[in-house]
Amino acid sequence: SNTTLMGKQRRAVGLMGGTFNPIHYGHLVAAEAARDAFNLDQVIFIPSGQPPHKSNVFVADPEHRYLMTFLAIVPNQHFELSRVEIDRPGPSYTLNTLQYFAERDPAIDWYFITGADAILDILTWHQPERLFGYAEFIAASRPGYSLDKIYALEQRLGREHMERIHPLEVPALAISSSQIRERLRMGLSIKYLVPEAVEHYIAKNRVYQALRHERR
Ligand code: ATP
Ligand code: MG
Repeated sequence: SNTTLMGKQRRAVGLMGGTFNPIHYGHLVAAEAARDAFNLDQVIFIPSGQPPHKSNVFVADPEHRYLMTFLAIVPNQHFELSRVEIDRPGPSYTLNTLQYFAERDPAIDWYFITGADAILDILTWHQPERLFGYAEFIAASRPGYSLDKIYALEQRLGREHMERIHPLEVPALAISSSQIRERLRMGLSIKYLVPEAVEHYIAKNRVYQALRHERR
């Protein structure tokens, strides 16, 4: 955590947004790497409500995604879970979420954690300048996506904002929820890609059963 002029420790907390459809080890490794590198007291996972940009893919019920995320974070005492996006009506926007946390606790330094792909979405879609008023950004490396594109944003965002984006190399995990859903659709194993409890929850509740009848 950062130290203030008074010598007091400021609390630093990470926010990890995602559809988590389903949550997998890529998410967990990125969150833990960010916690380590930035000395975060905790990381709060925030499953999205209805994702505005994911209308053409099967998105499991928010309550299923919430419970799968819960099962995944249980073993880490520094990981927490929030319903804020699930309970907010309408599409999920990162800006609203950052406002919510920053206003709830202004004494905390907030860090929004994303993968290399998602940071570009956030910064190129919604009034990005406003986001920086609420949080710093940690962009975790992810196989298949280059962090270089972020630097190209400097033209648009300016130096001051760029300094609030922190690239982070994490142990490369080429896992995506899309790939996991595709494996489930084909009836393949997802063992070792997601925590065991999540694997069992999906099987027991037939969360992605609808995909089995989908043809490609
Ligand atoms: P989908 O394939 O459905 O888009 P996803 O695997 O990208 O799923 P999301 O829920 O979209 O998962 O991602 C939530 C956040 O986690 C995003 O910021 C994303 O960039 C990041 N993320 C996902 N997988 C990884 C990974 N393997 N390594 C690093 N970051 C990741
Ligand atoms: Mg994604």
